[in-house]
Parts: sequence; structure tokens; C-alpha cells
Amino acid sequence: MATVLQLLRDMIAIPSVNPMRANSGEAVEQGMANFIETVLSHARIDCKRQQVAPGRDNVIGVVHSTSSDANGLMLNSHMDTVPVDNMSIKPFDPVIQNGCVFGRGSCDAKASIAAMLAAVIHYANQSDRASPVVFAAMADEEFAFSGSWKLIEDSWPVSACIIGEPTQLRRVIAHKGIVRWRINIHGLSAHGATPELGRNAVYEAARVALALEDFARKLAQQEPHRLLGHSTLNLGKVAGGHAVNIVPDKCVFEVECRLLPGQDGQQTLHDCEQFLRERLKESVELDFEAPYLIDPPLETVSDAPIVGLLARAQQEELGSEKELDGANYGTDGSKLSRAGIQTVVCGPGNIAQAHTANEFVEIEQVELASRMYKRLLANWGRTQ
Ligand SMILES: [Zn+2]
Repeated sequence: MATVLQLLRDMIAIPSVNPMRANSGEAVEQGMANFIETVLSHARIDCKRQQVAPGRDNVIGVVHSTSSDANGLMLNSHMDTVPVDNMSIKPFDPVIQNGCVFGRGSCDAKASIAAMLAAVIHYANQSDRASPVVFAAMADEEFAFSGSWKLIEDSWPVSACIIGEPTQLRRVIAHKGIVRWRINIHGLSAHGATPELGRNAVYEAARVALALEDFARKLAQQEPHRLLGHSTLNLGKVAGGHAVNIVPDKCVFEVECRLLPGQDGQQTLHDCEQFLRERLKESVELDFEAPYLIDPPLETVSDAPIVGLLARAQQEELGSEKELDGANYGTDGSKLSRAGIQTVVCGPGNIAQAHTANEFVEIEQVELASRMYKRLLANWGRTQ
């Protein structure tokens, strides 16, 4: 079988760039899905696909147990990457330098996929397998998490899951959720030479922007989560006006809030709208669109079996357990958790190198991760 490093390099060479929009019609993950399916099939692991969108499939390998058909463990990571514009290296050429592999997806998250694949194949080759193991490679994690929403439509013989994301092998048991929506601010169009006949939507929008900043400050004053701090708001995009000689009749904001466990996206949006309406009274005409993305937060109790068993696998393979941590980015994990599967995010690489112009991962991290996953799979079924 190929080494972890060879698997990783092969996958970096397969482009799987998420176009970061819905219904693009592109077969983003097809090359990756075919590759993973071939690797799993060679290891005689049962493999299935779930169509997430035309040309875009999740690939799922199931290693059956020799004694139990429930309470198994899932290893899950994603096949898509962020775009490659403005990269300073060749994105699909997996160059090795100074103990690192470079390329788009090297860190986020093909390192995790390679380490997990090697561990799952190793487990499948054991004659005594105490519990089922599911390896799930997801489509569309970077844009809408639609792969993991699709995954949980079916049931899997697992009670716990590890999500492979670059956490430097820290055990991330909580992360924030996301709500994204648009705010339309309305004005009245007029000739640019007679602005007094119109109502400039961009001036109105400036007032809304300042009120949003106040709302963000209010969020920062709330009780912080012990691993995640407080929730945040970002006004990320502003679009207004048609031409320099026309008074703008409309300005559109795109806003996102990062939510703490226990916070609800709809409720946060509602609170924000109420805050703006009270602050601005009737002076500004605005409407809130329904959110175009709501992604739930993740929180797994620190005494869940998977948290402890992962620590044990780390002690045995890395010499010591890695700290419990929180993350302010979203992952597929919150969907698994929603489906009642206790989930920890833990994978090789540093999030600081994900999505960057010269993305890379340390080879040692990937190899350590693979050993850690192997040990976890060996221990899991014996203690369940
Ligand atoms: Zn990722």
C-alpha cells in the first residue's frame, strides 16, 4: 500500500477547488472521489457514494467488525479546497521542502484524509476488529457543508466521530456556528446633479454600518464561552450605486455572525434587526433577507468517551495528550453532533497555514496523525 506521504502527494495533484457558490454545476470533488474509491476498493473495503449535487459525491468506506455492528467510530474529513487565486506556489504540484509538503489542500484537509485513509486500511487488515469503522470523505465543506448535511440523512453504525481539520492534533471539542444574511438599504434615485431630489442609499447605509458596529460591541460584552470567547459580527461586503452621476437607490450588506454553542442563528439575526430598528427608528428604510447560511456550533462534553480515548491514543503514540481546545471556524463536526454522534475535531497541520498563498503541512504531523488514528481505531472497539 502507498505511504501516507504518497497518498497526500497524489491527492494534492488532484484539483478539487470549491467554486464557493451554490449550483455551479462543476464536478469539484470527482477526481478526489474516484481516487479515494480506488484506494478503498484495493483494500477490499465496502465503498458507497452519496450524491450531494450533480457530479459531487461523498465517498464512504465501511469496515465491518468481526464481532459487533454498532457503536463504531467514524473518521471524517473533506475533499474540497478553497480557491487557488493569488497563490505564490504551484497549487497542484506537491513539492517537498524542509520536511513539509506544499500545495493547495496539503494542510486543509488532504493531510487528514491521507492519515485517516492509511489508518482505516490498516484497521481493515486486522483479523480481529471489535467495532465497525466508517471513513467518510465529504464534498463541499468549504462553502456550505452540504456534504455533511447529506451524510446525516443516512444512519451509520457509529456513536463517535473524529473530524480531520488542521488542529495541530489538539482535541477541539467546541467551535462556533455561523449565520450569514443580507441587509437591503433603500433610497431614492435621482440625477447626480440634483441630489436633493433623491435619497442616497449609501449615506443611509453608513448609518446602518455604524449601528452594526455597536451591535458587534454589544456581543463582545456578553458572557464568554470558556474555549471560544464571545460571539462576533462582521460586515463583510457592501455593494451600492450604479454610476458616479446617479444617486444610489439601494445598498446591500452581507453580514455574518459567529455563534457560540447554545446560540441560535435565527434568533441572533432577529436580535440584530431589532437593535437596528430601535437605534435608527424610521429614519432608514431597510429590510433583512432570510439567512442564506445557518451552520450550527459544536460542543462535545469533555468527559465523552471519544475525548478520553483520543487522549489515550495520543499518550501512547505521541508521548503525551494534546490539550482540549476550541476553534472559531466552522467544520462538518457540528452536523455529525446534531445527528447524535459525539464528535471531536483533531487532525494534522496548523490552521494558520490553511487557505494561504503557500499552503503547506509538516510531514511529521501527518505521520504522527496517522499513527494516532491507527491506535485510536485499535483501542476504540475494545472499550465500548
Ligand atoms: Zn478544512
